[in-house]
Amino acid sequence: MRKINTRNFRLATRSTPRDVNRRIVLNLIREYQPISRAELARRMSVRRGTLTPLVRELVESGVVFEKGTAATARGRRPTMLCVRTRGRLVVAVDVRSGRSSIALSDVGGRMLAREMFDTPASPDQLAELLANEVTRLLRLHAPNGGEGCQGIGIVLPGMVDRKTGKLIYAPRLGWRDVDLRSAVTARLGMKVFVESAPIACAMARLWLEPEATRSVNSFAYVSVSEGIGVGLVVNGEMLRGETHTAGEFGHVSLDTSGPLCVCGRRGCWEALACNAATVDRYVETLTGAPVKSDGAVRRARKSTFPGIEEVVRRARGGETAAVQALVETATHIGRGLALIVSAFNPGRIYVGGEITEAWEFLEAPIREALVTGTIPGSAGRTLVVPDSSLAEYRLLGAVALVTAPGYAALAVG
Ligand SMILES: [Zn+2]
Repeated sequence: MRKINTRNFRLATRSTPRDVNRRIVLNLIREYQPISRAELARRMSVRRGTLTPLVRELVESGVVFEKGTAATARGRRPTMLCVRTRGRLVVAVDVRSGRSSIALSDVGGRMLAREMFDTPASPDQLAELLANEVTRLLRLHAPNGGEGCQGIGIVLPGMVDRKTGKLIYAPRLGWRDVDLRSAVTARLGMKVFVESAPIACAMARLWLEPEATRSVNSFAYVSVSEGIGVGLVVNGEMLRGETHTAGEFGHVSLDTSGPLCVCGRRGCWEALACNAATVDRYVETLTGAPVKSDGAVRRARKSTFPGIEEVVRRARGGETAAVQALVETATHIGRGLALIVSAFNPGRIYVGGEITEAWEFLEAPIREALVTGTIPGSAGRTLVVPDSSLAEYRLLGAVALVTAPGYAALAVG
């Protein structure tokens, strides 16, 4: 039950019922494709006649196409309906500190081309670089230089204001109050969507993997990488909060005397469980000397430390110090997940990041800390699922930013 916001509402018009029903048809086709009209009518509990004009509109607009592939027992071949992806393209950009990615995808999330580039130091340089890269990618890989490109989705490692598309703060890039959307739009004249990485990852699950989330309407995506980010889906909708910072569990302090965090405070969940924390822990165990937990020092020494991938590899090879470091990180991850379960009771939590490659060492301590940190029984039904292809989900999330508005429930009332 949603209360009508009397300061921000949308009135129903004469075409509203038809628009709503057409959107439902489109979503059913997308989820069950290829699907016949008879099956659609059955799933909607309506007569074929009710369905016919709605399907016709979707076919005429080019969003849905018909193909006659299914053979039935009697040999008749009913026309099947599918969502059209060919020729409907999206540019996906994943901005990270260090190296970023750009990809060309169809609206279904099938990647046609992808490249990496060094992340520029300033947002202006990034906008300029993106303008050149997008034009080049479309010229190389898209028919007619990008005709039919639906827009550009940009995923950033920081908080984003959904309405204005402004980056509020990205601690790892050192960027504040950046209007990247306007800067890129001005250069390319295309629709640009900007979102924070964990929210985009959750959107990728929600919009591009209907099977994965069909039975789970509330879930969380936790990315454990350079930092920790959380995207929350509640009743099929991204949770944003009044000022777009919902889900910032990464900077909840779990230990006020813990290691220093990039945000300037101590013992944040992120400072305890991000990749650098795991690497520090591993190096400490190996050398017996504490690593000074200071971001600048850590960056300066970075080249002499093994990367997280190496720690994971050594753990899987049976090295005790590496296993210990991962197990301790897992305990911290579980403590943070307990906050999420207590706040939102999600049906599922996806954990993405490099360390999930070593899930065999993480699963039990994560579960244990999660159960310990929540009231008895509350975490029992929350599945914790590893996702080792975080980079993939960031790009898919960028695709979802562009495509989701075309499938979303209409906001009326
Ligand atoms: Zn912090």
